Formats: sequence, structure tokens, C-alpha cells
Amino acid sequence: MNKPHIVLLGAGYGGMMTAVNLQKQLGVNEANITLVNKNDYHYQSTWLHEVAAGTIHHDRARIAIKDVIKTNRITILQDTVVEIKPDEKKVKLENAVLDYDILVVGLGFEAATFGIPGLEENAFMIGNIDSSRLLREHLEYHFAQYNNERDKKQARLNIVVGGGGFTGIEFVGELANRVPELCEEYDINKAQVRIINVEGAPTVLPGFDPQLVEYAMNSLESRGVEFVLGAMLKECKPDSIVYEKDGKMVEVPTMTTVWAAGVKANGIVENSGFETNRGKIEVRKDMRTPEYDDVFVIGDCALIMNPETGRPFPPTAQIAIQQSYTVAKNIKALVRGGAELETFEPNILGTVASLGHNDAIGVVMGDHKIFGWSATAMKKIIDNRYLLKLGGIGLLMKKGKFNFFY
Ligand code: FAD
Ligand code: NAD
Repeated sequence: MNKPHIVLLGAGYGGMMTAVNLQKQLGVNEANITLVNKNDYHYQSTWLHEVAAGTIHHDRARIAIKDVIKTNRITILQDTVVEIKPDEKKVKLENAVLDYDILVVGLGFEAATFGIPGLEENAFMIGNIDSSRLLREHLEYHFAQYNNERDKKQARLNIVVGGGGFTGIEFVGELANRVPELCEEYDINKAQVRIINVEGAPTVLPGFDPQLVEYAMNSLESRGVEFVLGAMLKECKPDSIVYEKDGKMVEVPTMTTVWAAGVKANGIVENSGFETNRGKIEVRKDMRTPEYDDVFVIGDCALIMNPETGRPFPPTAQIAIQQSYTVAKNIKALVRGGAELETFEPNILGTVASLGHNDAIGVVMGDHKIFGWSATAMKKIIDNRYLLKLGGIGLLMKKGKFNFFY
């Protein structure tokens, strides 16, 4: 191939790490590389629940792309992808059209709302920096407003979180730490505030280790979180939500509904006419689409089946990062020609979920259970390890989490 144009769509975990790996692996004159992203920063989606609750500032979770990517090697293009035209080898952006020889689709996830009435209009999502900041401001506004009304509205202090998967649980953990601070700040009795987690399955974190689930629920309940299990959220109105439990409809007054009950791949993938399975592209072993030899897919837009369970691997940053090494190697092989493409093999190192900044649960190294301080420390080590891989010691020192003792 004669100095091909490699285009990377999305500066998430998959896109950023592919870019970093390519800048290490390809020589200056081997390819032109363009990284397209909506913003001029990369954000760590895995920290967004903290941004949304207000327990960290949003600048902690975002990293200027130019601080990590060598701009003399990779062109950073701040623009929004509108459509991919794989038959024409083109990408339509809001402000330009790009031609490519090799494409990497890493456009990440968006909320799956399953057509539930009122969610799109009235619920808050923890989807990116802007939506998480909006939620933080909204929470603060209602606490501030509460004492300034003659007719005090309990709906301002009821916070409902739909979905008790990892996102829902990590978010209520942060909220449980943030609410006492907000109460102090706005002269509100903490007993008046309700954090209600509504989960459709009979347990939160369905499928996760039951002992650790019990630990998590105890930890969160002791900090005021209420769980409503076996309850499906059915409707979201501006000042209430409706869930169904045991065949009965229950309405809870709330001006803050947070939808954390599932994600899907970025809709651009399906709308661009790729062959999809559950909205994602079921990639070949080498991370390319089934029908295009020049299109790789990475992260939450890619679907990989787990042969042991017969179900897809859950979409995680862990997998997106691992995939970036295979994708970069395979792109190098295509550019240089001759070499066989590598097969991607996920290596699941474990799952660790925070329950606020001072508690966590996890299963690591096969089936080793951790909780409390050791899990909290492990979570921070995982976060720091990523920063080290992405931007070396400088980035780690700038953005890392070193508060291991609380
Ligand atoms: P993303 O990280 O979603 O990045 C996509 C990028 O594409 C973004 O930069 C976005 O701005 C850009 N983009 C989107 N649309 C466009 C467009 N049209 N044009 C241009 N650019 C666009 N996983 C774990 O492994 N461990 C965890 O602890 C963990 N915690 C999580 C906590 C939360 C609160 C959430 C929400 C998720 C968590 N996950 C975790 C899952 C993990 O965040 C995702 O699997 C991961 O972010 C997927 O990475 P990605 O590279 O596919 O895309
Ligand atoms: P999820 O799909 O894992 O969980 C969604 C939850 O919402 C499920 O428990 C489901 O039963 C429930 N639900 C669905 N519809 C509902 C309804 N109408 N009413 C009430 N409950 C309903 O989604 P998620 O938690 O956003 O996680 C998305 C991905 O990100 C997953 O792959 C997860 O593993 C990953 N993630 C990982 C971590 C971590 O490793 N610490 C943290 C957050 C997210």
C-alpha cells in the first residue's frame, strides 16, 4: 500500500489506545493517520459517575488529546461523524468528508432506552462529560431550590436511579457520599433525601458474585440507599417515575431520574448499513467487519461472543484497551503487507466496582473476591495503570488517583 490514510473514529479507550500504539509501531513515512473526535479531549467514561455525582471535577476525567498524541505523527480532527460509507471508503463528518484506506470505528456507546415513555425527554444519562455535568448541576439546583420555596417539594430531594447494573451501583455509591455534603451546603436534613435504586431483576448486579452483591447492598443501605428489586421502570415524567412491581404500578415523585439501565453501540454503526447483531458489528477474529477488509471495529461498537457462555462479552473499557493492541498490530500488518493478521483473545483480568471513593467490590485473578479497602485500592491501581499506558508517567502524575487510604 502506498502511504495509506488510516482514519480512527472516536477518541475513547479503543480509539486513543489504537492511536498511541500506531504512533509507536509505524514509521513516520509509512502512513497518514487522522483521529476524528467530537471534542478536543478524551474522557474516561469509567469515571463519569463521579463527575455526575459531583465527587470529582470534570477536568479530572478529561485529557486533552494533544497531550497524549504526537500531532506531528497523527492529525487530530475535531468534528462529528455523521455517516460511514464503507462501499465508497468515505466518512461523512459535519464539516468535511474524509477518504480512507483503513478505518477504525471506535464511536463508543449510547444509552439504550428501550422505547420507555418519557425517558428521552425527562431522564438524565451518564453518557459523556456534558451529560454528566448537567446531572451534577441539576442535582445541586434542586437542593438549592428546596429551602427557597414556601411549598417545599419532596420530589426535589428524591433521586431515582433506574438500573442496578455496574453503572447504577457505582453512581448510587458516589451519591451516597455526595448527598451529606449537599445537605450541609444547603441546610437540608439528610433524613429527608431519598436515593432510590430501581432494578428489574430480583437482585442488583445480576450474575455477579452473590456474596459481594450482599456486601455492596449492605454498604450502600447503611449510607441511605433504598433498593426496589424486581421492579421495571415503565414511565418517566418531569416530576415522577412509574415502576411496575408484583403486577402493581407504583408512582414515585421525583424531579431527578437517572437512567443507568443499559447501553447500546453508537447508532451511527447501524445507520451506516453495516451488518449488525444487537446493534453492534460482530467482528471477525482479527477485529474487522464481516464484509469489509479495510474496516476495523473496536470497543463498545464491536461484538465478540464468549464461547464459554454463548453470550457476547459485556462492553468494557478493559476489552476496548486490549483490542487496541490487536487492531494496531493488524493495521501495521496490512500497511507492510505479507504478515498474517492476529486473532484477538480477550483476557478478562477481573471486575472491580466502586461503591463511592472509600468502598468497592471485585473479583480478580479468576475467582478471588475482594471488598473494602483492598478493592478500593485495586480500582485505583486499574485506573492508574490505564493512564500509564496511555500517556506514561507524566499523565499518571497529572491525573492519577493516589488517595489509597480513604
Ligand atoms: P468510549 O469510551 O465511549 O468513547 C467514544 C468516543 O467517541 C468519545 O470520545 C466520544 O466523544 C466519541 N464520539 C461519539 N460519537 C461521535 C461522533 N458522532 N463523532 C465524533 N466522535 C464521537 N468498563 C470497565 O472496563 N471498567 C469500569 O470500571 C467501567 N466503569 C464504567 C463506569 C461508567 C459510569 C460507565 C458509563 C461505563 C463504564 N465502563 C467500565 C464501560 C466503559 O466505559 C466502556 O466500555 C468504554 O468507554 C468503551 O470504550 P470505547 O472506546 O468503545 O468508547
Ligand atoms: P447493564 O446492562 O450492565 O445493567 C443494566 C441493569 O438495568 C440490569 O441490571 C437490568 O436488569 C436493569 N434494567 C434494564 N431495564 C430496566 C428497567 N426498565 N427498569 C429497571 N431496571 C432495568 O448496564 P450498565 O450498568 O450501564 O453497564 C454497561 C456496561 O458497562 C456493562 O458491560 C458493564 O459491565 C460496564 N461497566 C463496568 C463497570 C465496572 O467494571 N466497574 C462499571 C460500569 C459499567
